[in-house]
Amino acid sequence: MADCFSIQKRSEIMSKIRSKDTKIEIKVRHWLYHHGIRYRKNCKTIVGKPDIAIKKYKIAIFVNGCFWHGHDECNKSRLPKSNLVFWKGKLETNKERDRANIETLEQMGWNVFVLWECQINSDFETVMTDLLDKINQIRYWKENLSSTDNL
Ligand SMILES: [Zn+2]
Repeated sequence: MADCFSIQKRSEIMSKIRSKDTKIEIKVRHWLYHHGIRYRKNCKTIVGKPDIAIKKYKIAIFVNGCFWHGHDECNKSRLPKSNLVFWKGKLETNKERDRANIETLEQMGWNVFVLWECQINSDFETVMTDLLDKINQIRYWKENLSSTDNL
């Protein structure tokens, strides 16, 4: 079926989808906070403005909406049928920017984690427990390394 929305209407719908992204960010932040993790949100001084950053351990966490960040092989990232070329270009640009940011951060020694909307919605506890494990591992390493530095 052809998409009957105008570009304007479509943009409106898409911006509503975008605002949903922040709901999953909040969900992730609350979970981390309740598990004793202290973080900064949308830190502008860090490349790519990660949704969540733990500066002390150089951990950057991106909470990505599947549509806007073009989650591969994910049915939530299906493109609208109208203005296909427009959306394809726009979302490719987003993906390209994400890739470049992650690369830069990793080169700077950051540990980057990307959480996807569909995983958060379907398997929240597993995703978060897994993330917390990794954060604790990094924390352990950093604390051990800094103690050898002091010798
Ligand atoms: Zn997805």
